[in-house]
Amino acid sequence: MRYNIYSEHLKQRYGGKVYKLPVSLPVTCPNRDGTYGRGGCVFCGEIGAGYENLPASMTVKMQIAANRVHIAEKYKAKKFIPYFQNFSNTYLPVDKLRQYVHEACQEDVVSIALATRPDCINDKYLEMLAEVGESKGVDISIELGLQTVNYHSLEKVKRGHTLAEFLDAVLRIKRYNIEVCAHIILNLPWDDELDVVESAKILSAMGVHQVKLHALYIVKDTEMADWYQSGQVSLISKEEYVERVVTFLEYLHPDIVVQRLIGRAPEENTLFTNWQTGWWKIRDDIERILLERDTWQGKKCSFLNGSAVQKFL
Ligand code: SF4
Repeated sequence: MRYNIYSEHLKQRYGGKVYKLPVSLPVTCPNRDGTYGRGGCVFCGEIGAGYENLPASMTVKMQIAANRVHIAEKYKAKKFIPYFQNFSNTYLPVDKLRQYVHEACQEDVVSIALATRPDCINDKYLEMLAEVGESKGVDISIELGLQTVNYHSLEKVKRGHTLAEFLDAVLRIKRYNIEVCAHIILNLPWDDELDVVESAKILSAMGVHQVKLHALYIVKDTEMADWYQSGQVSLISKEEYVERVVTFLEYLHPDIVVQRLIGRAPEENTLFTNWQTGWWKIRDDIERILLERDTWQGKKCSFLNGSAVQKFL
């Protein structure tokens, strides 16, 4: 394996096939409700990221039960990770979140994954999550939306937080023995190859446990869609995206697990999705180039732990 593949990591850790079960909570986001902004990030559509999710009006138990039947049948999975994906899943009172997480801790559940923003997590939430995880015997992982380490780009996408909040959240989460995954978009219109390298270096230096890479997709009726249609922003080619992923992997620490090399997104309601190519074809291109160039994750990860003085050791 030329990179640290998530499905293999799950198999080794839990001894068999493990699948995520998407769960929706009735939550919003501080970048939408007026706390830090009203319109959300410029690329975020009305339904957030969870287009495959069941409605949040269903209980957590009902959603897990419905998705489990479908996934267990299709993939022959016996162990599951309820995945609280849409919007900011820790943006609610801590007792309410405890109740939802408890509900998700069922017999065949090995871990709970919560996606959120770096500014929606603090010590109180982490104490609670660590305590539930320990008492129920399940792992907890938190997926932080960062998108890019370039804080100028973060301002352009109207994220409502900068790199500093991400660094603070990672350091805190790790103190509670909770895993952290960073969500990164490798082709934001203002970012270049240098940002890609710096993203991999910062995530390696911070020791995040997992990364999830995505290509930007342009959702209709968003500010990004207006900019795209009026030519104010343009996107790199598929070949350039593939190059960026390869570069990113080369600088990424080999221990970091890679959840995805490219995201899956619906074509409905979008103006642009993965160059109108199946995500698996782009993944195959990336894997082919890794092989052809005889390169791998971590090949250029020699910048940590005082690289200039290594020669004196
Ligand atoms: S932080 Fe996430 S949910 Fe909130 S506006 Fe941005 S992309 Fe949407």
